[in-house]
Amino acid sequence: MTGFSSRVEQVSISGIREVFEAASEDAINLGLGQPDFPTPDHARQAAVDAIEAGKTDAYTSNKGTLELREAIAEKHKRDNDLDVDPENVIATAGGSEALHIAIEAHVDAGEEVIIPDPGFVSYEALTHLAGGQPRPVALRDDLTLDPAAVEDAITDDTAAFVVNSPANPTGAVQSPADMEAFARIADEYDVLCITDEVYEYQIFEGEHRSPMEFADSDNVVLVNACSKAYSMTGWRLGWVTGSSERVERMLRVHQYAQACASAPAQYAAEAALSGPQDQVDEMREAFRERRDVLLDGLEAMGLECPTPQGAFYAMPEVPEGWVDECIDRGVVVVPGDAFGSAGEGYARISYATDIETIEDALEIMAEATAAVQ
Ligand code: PLP
Repeated sequence: MTGFSSRVEQVSISGIREVFEAASEDAINLGLGQPDFPTPDHARQAAVDAIEAGKTDAYTSNKGTLELREAIAEKHKRDNDLDVDPENVIATAGGSEALHIAIEAHVDAGEEVIIPDPGFVSYEALTHLAGGQPRPVALRDDLTLDPAAVEDAITDDTAAFVVNSPANPTGAVQSPADMEAFARIADEYDVLCITDEVYEYQIFEGEHRSPMEFADSDNVVLVNACSKAYSMTGWRLGWVTGSSERVERMLRVHQYAQACASAPAQYAAEAALSGPQDQVDEMREAFRERRDVLLDGLEAMGLECPTPQGAFYAMPEVPEGWVDECIDRGVVVVPGDAFGSAGEGYARISYATDIETIEDALEIMAEATAAVQ
């Protein structure tokens, strides 16, 4: 047998998958990272119409259709007050591919990427796959990323740092002051800030600001996706934007790895971004209600959990053995160390499910808590 690359040998299948595989089929699954809503009708219909009109028989432009990139630019104007040139947008196969091409295009072998710990699993893996070295930075007590900690972690080898707000797995939202500080760091240290904003629409308290709004240099690359915003994880449609030079380099990776994002998904995404936004508000309100139910339940069983201000995850500190006890009793949650070593002693609970299920799960979690204490 031929050998494997040392880069691929450094990554393993995500710990989240392992948890799912260990759970019984009828378990309550609070491990999932996707909204439990349907994709909005107008987005689904746009894909059907495009298919029926034969608009999906060909590759689109590598960057994606101009109409989709215009809708993305309009979204950034509307929500972020950012002037994005549609030429500086690449539609990707989800936020995942956007992160991949951003890291691949900017990180050289041996260079470091500063990542939040705990943080979304892809940052570490994609850094390894690019031949780089992840440099995890522990979070503050409120589970936000401290700009000062990022600054301290910068060395001559730092290529980039990743900011993710609202965050997976913590639900933490960075303040506008933090986002501005991240932009200043990117400017002053001449390192790239990769800002992952896929949970932008799921904010309950605070406001979403992007480091891109504050940066004076072109050292910010912004990743977003329709996946969480419009309950479109299955469509695989995200995007990345940055300066024309950065986009040109990322396009080199995208062109050879992907050619273009799926055409039906591009038509659906264009409709989702430019059509009615009511479902976004409905989802946010539903998540807020569920979050409150979950937090009350966790508090009642004596578990400490910083109030997640966004996304649809809570990350309480849990006693040893708690995650296994929950899984054995039929509630799937993800151990915090699946997201980095600083996540040890925590668990990620996704509340992207209905309140009745959350209440059932809370009863079981309370039994699990009593069993391990
Ligand atoms: N970024 C974060 C923080 C995520 O949690 C996820 C998915 O869970 C992604 C990016 C990737 O999203 P997508 O499904 O669009 O590839």
